[in-house]
Amino acid sequence: MTNEIKRPVRTRFAPSPTGPLHIGGARSALFGWLFARHHNGRFILRIEDTDQSRFDPDSLRLITDGLRWLGIVWDEGPDIGGPYGPYVQSERLALYQEWANWLVEHDRAYRCYCTSERLEQVNKEKQARGEQPGYDRHCRNLSDEERARNEAEGKPFVIRLKVPLEGQTIAQDIVLGEVKVDNSTLQDIVLLKSDGFPTYHLAHVVDDHFMEISHVTRANEWLPSLPLHILLWQAFGWEMPEYAHLPVLLNPNGKGKLSKRHAGFTEDGRQVLVLVDEFKRAGYLPQAVVNFLTNIGWTFGDDREIFSVEEAIERFDLRDVHPSNSRYPIEKLDWLNGEYIRAMSPDELAPLLRAPLEQAGLTVDMERLTRVAPLVQPRIKTLNDVVDMAGFFFRDQFQPAPAENLLQKNVNAEQTRAALDQAHTALSAVEDFTHDTLDSTLRPLAQTLGLKPAALFGMLRVAITGQTVATPLFETMEILGKQTCLQRIELAIESLAKLTV
Ligand code: GLU
Repeated sequence: MTNEIKRPVRTRFAPSPTGPLHIGGARSALFGWLFARHHNGRFILRIEDTDQSRFDPDSLRLITDGLRWLGIVWDEGPDIGGPYGPYVQSERLALYQEWANWLVEHDRAYRCYCTSERLEQVNKEKQARGEQPGYDRHCRNLSDEERARNEAEGKPFVIRLKVPLEGQTIAQDIVLGEVKVDNSTLQDIVLLKSDGFPTYHLAHVVDDHFMEISHVTRANEWLPSLPLHILLWQAFGWEMPEYAHLPVLLNPNGKGKLSKRHAGFTEDGRQVLVLVDEFKRAGYLPQAVVNFLTNIGWTFGDDREIFSVEEAIERFDLRDVHPSNSRYPIEKLDWLNGEYIRAMSPDELAPLLRAPLEQAGLTVDMERLTRVAPLVQPRIKTLNDVVDMAGFFFRDQFQPAPAENLLQKNVNAEQTRAALDQAHTALSAVEDFTHDTLDSTLRPLAQTLGLKPAALFGMLRVAITGQTVATPLFETMEILGKQTCLQRIELAIESLAKLTV
């Protein structure tokens, strides 16, 4: 295979609007997009909606929202138009019909009048003889009279490709190398259905031609159909694009194509996410998801797993895509997302934390959130983690923890009460309620009380935040302020009294 790029690079993502954007689809889109960007080419979004029975009206929005969220931006597409539009197949039906008829006129395709009953019967007979099911090419060999009679009777028909009966079809795939089949194993596939709608085979070849697609990047599930597509290109006599069949994602257990139903659970018991929309809602950063996807089936090099999308664009080449299907390494995403969160400035992070807090029903004071952001930043893996870690900063009403949670290892209720009492006294005297002063007040106090610092800080954390896991204690106390802290310690002391009686 040569390195040479023969014509302006134009790639496309051509989803069928049959459901939400799946992470596997997003990965295919991403690789096509990276390739186009690397070559300063164009990336096209085309909607393949010729199977009207599976049309899901919500999916178009979910697909475009998902791509946009990931930053996979198209240069031509249904919403923005472009010189090769329309970009929705159901708006191009006349074109497919015209070219299907052209093939019939040029003896590369034929009208088939067989009824579905007849096709079923043929299959049954084939099965009985132990043969592969498939069309017996009955209408390919009709006499002129028979054909004329069918026409005169106005019989409905489909248009089928006239596949050569002998020889071989050979294709070069950028990722998978040479693909070779005996034409005798191929079927005279339907190109145009009796309702005038094209099949995928016809529609995408016509579109890829007229939209001047230079490289077809699509999931390798389409590989078995590639020889037929090549025969179709040859029948038209059009210049073929290059094909790159991309490996698909497998379920995390390595078995079967990744699917929402079979993806299973993560080690900590959460459902494995599969739809792009779910990643957004779960608090992942789009740039982390893009980085995560770029690492599946392609390697940046230099042992680097973290890189910006600009860096990926600079290096990306379809020839480096690994040919085998890849297990979905979902466990890497939390780690990567955490790395992206830590790489931000706290000022960039703070506004992103607002939405998850508000969605959890909390009232966000931005000034406070700006102070909280650096405290959660080293400790969260997703934006949503802020709710569990630091939601207490934004609760209108304090939710104290059960008194039992105040008890630390080897410290009983009485000792806990005494310690909190002493802490209250000591803290009441602190004028400058800041991290350093709190540290120099409470650390010696632990010693006086004969407690490990971790035990004293642990009970104070539960008393003040209502949680056993939270942001670091002194910074947290500084943000909450003296009065709030003292009130909460009083509450904790009261709750302990109930526990000890
Ligand atoms: N509409 C096809 C699908 O969603 C597109 C395949 C292709 O990219 O050619 O699978």
